[in-house]
Amino acid sequence: MKTYDNIYIDGKWVKPSGQGTIEVVSPYSQEVIGTVPKGNDDDVNAAVAAAKAAFPAWAATSVEERAVYIEKLGEALAAREADIGSTISQEMGMPVTFARMIQAGLAINITKTYPDILRNYKFDEQLGTTTVAKEPIGVCSFITPWNYPLYLIIAKVMPALAAGCTMVLKPSSDTPLNAYIFAEIVEEVGLPAGVFNMLTGSGSVVGEALSGHPDVEMVSITGSTEAGARVGANAAQTIKRVHQELGGKSANIILDDVEDFAGAVSAGVQGVMMNCGQTCAALTRMLVPESRKEEAYAVATAVCNGATLGDPSEEGMHLGPVSSKKQQGVVLDYINKGIAEGAKLLAGGPDFPEGLNEKGAFVKPTAFGDVTNDMVIAQEEIFGPVICILPYKDEAEAIKIANDSEFGLSGAVWSGDEDRAVRVARQIRTGQVAVNGGGFNPFAPFGGYKKSGNGRELGEFGMVDYLEIKAINRPGAPSPLAAAE
Ligand code: NAD
Repeated sequence: MKTYDNIYIDGKWVKPSGQGTIEVVSPYSQEVIGTVPKGNDDDVNAAVAAAKAAFPAWAATSVEERAVYIEKLGEALAAREADIGSTISQEMGMPVTFARMIQAGLAINITKTYPDILRNYKFDEQLGTTTVAKEPIGVCSFITPWNYPLYLIIAKVMPALAAGCTMVLKPSSDTPLNAYIFAEIVEEVGLPAGVFNMLTGSGSVVGEALSGHPDVEMVSITGSTEAGARVGANAAQTIKRVHQELGGKSANIILDDVEDFAGAVSAGVQGVMMNCGQTCAALTRMLVPESRKEEAYAVATAVCNGATLGDPSEEGMHLGPVSSKKQQGVVLDYINKGIAEGAKLLAGGPDFPEGLNEKGAFVKPTAFGDVTNDMVIAQEEIFGPVICILPYKDEAEAIKIANDSEFGLSGAVWSGDEDRAVRVARQIRTGQVAVNGGGFNPFAPFGGYKKSGNGRELGEFGMVDYLEIKAINRPGAPSPLAAAE
């Protein structure tokens, strides 16, 4: 049991003004594993004031100074990898072996990309007689979710630190304990007071205050499309820059000429089941040629039925529960809806899996076949271990189905001809597309089209989003364009 009474403001652990606590509940045992304070508007004001006061000095640090701080943060995160992995596993249910590898591993690896990105970035560019200066935008507020909690904090904090911004973080109330570990790390490496501030609290109080605060220049949220829209509306009153990383319903197009059809289907289903489908970029709509759908159904059934579920605190490659009893209820409702809509239940279903602790928020890995794209299960983000398989007639129809979504986060294409796959990938209206299993690149931009968001995270693109652009026009010869006229 971890009990935290304070929030981290201006380099100190302080008692919040807000009353009450938030309980962190294990999705496996339903026991309370920690408590954190419930911050309020006064706490937000104090945190923003600290970030505002710290901004001029942090913005004036050299690239090298900031790069060295980020290196130290990377080393300190790596030193606490096991602690981070087991904390996140307890908070949201990803089994501990995966949590160390993926949850802690991603947070560490993303941090380690930024010193080089920063050292190689040109903060000044010359355009004729104009110097284009890129400057940190100012105080940023960060609102984050529970599914990859620390990685998604790091994906905002590191590029913002690199850019020279100061910040206030509000982590998810479901998974705040890992954010406390991160704040301890910030304190340990001696980041100047006020550069990073953290407080816990609800989205409706602390989240709202952070997205509307007049001294915050940019708000970045990762979360549901509903919360993202609310943050955007709130931020509009003070003309903030708004950065949104929101939901997805991504398509995985397996073309008819793929060499290893079973391998592509199997990789696709396994990818969805990892973290029990609680991945924004999960490829939850698998599009297969009509003529090969039965083969796809057989492979998907075998993968789902072959998955083992178990206690997240045990080492191993099994799946854990979903993140909470509430989330379990949401996912089971969708499974029942899929059955009612006439999709073919291939594996899994709404029953509780046999032989497991009944308190655990478990959901059987579930696959639906004969799904049509107008079904609710094909349009809405389920955020659970559920894959929908949709047959298509030809390539054009596959592209049409892939794009027939209000989301635009991710996608994949498999083909025996890589050029064909890339041609199809270019026609998918999403922020990233994997071709023939192409892996995640931590230096590449990540973000969504359409209702999946605005802005990009990771790599240099992620840092550029935290910069303002200033044109300093010097006297002298006109710009090359004007000279040509
Ligand atoms: P959520 O929207 O419920 O909460 C996300 C954060 O927003 C939390 O910190 C919450 O307290 C806060 N919040 C809620 N209402 C708010 C309001 N009115 N004002 C300000 N803040 C508010 O999402 P979740 O359930 O924690 O996370 C799951 C969602 O996140 C899924 O939709 C998933 O697709 C999305 N997600 C997107 C990405 C991405 O990069 N695109 C990554 C991970 C998760």
